[in-house]
Amino acid sequence: MSVLPIRIIGDDILRQKAEPIADVEGEHIKLAYDMAETMIAERGIGLAAPQVGRSVRLIVVDLKYLEKGDSPLMLINPEIAYIEGSVSMEEGCLSIPGLFAHVERPEKVVVKGLAIKNERKVVEVEISADDLYARVLLHEIDHLDGILFVDRLPLEERISLLAKWQKEKEKLLSSKKKKEASL
Ligand SMILES: [Zn+2]
Repeated sequence: MSVLPIRIIGDDILRQKAEPIADVEGEHIKLAYDMAETMIAERGIGLAAPQVGRSVRLIVVDLKYLEKGDSPLMLINPEIAYIEGSVSMEEGCLSIPGLFAHVERPEKVVVKGLAIKNERKVVEVEISADDLYARVLLHEIDHLDGILFVDRLPLEERISLLAKWQKEKEKLLSSKKKKEASL
């Protein structure tokens, strides 16, 4: 396994709609494990394949941090089957390091997809999640559609946050502050 470099806002791949994975092959499994290692090394709670430069529909989530399991969730072709409620919570993104904002998202979600389990077995799953777990899934699925969390902010807030990014980019890129809340 290896830690992969994270793509940063401004990189075109973060704005592309990622391709579904039609046949799960060894390279996808390897990518999933590398992404899980990268997520943990970068102290994120979730990571989507475009963030490591691969435009395919694959996400990982740190279930240990969320107290939902021992090993990371590795989910292929995730699809939102149901959403409910609305809640605002602070979030950040490993692709926009050092910037955080309150984002309004559904409170509960049901996500379907193919999970990579032990012994590299792939099984169909349906995940019901709420609170932070729901938020991480929604944030990562957004990445697969080329959407970043700043896109979900009211216009004025988005403009001022992106201006802050432009101004303080160098400093923010090197900041190690509070990465735990980044997805
Ligand atoms: Zn993100």
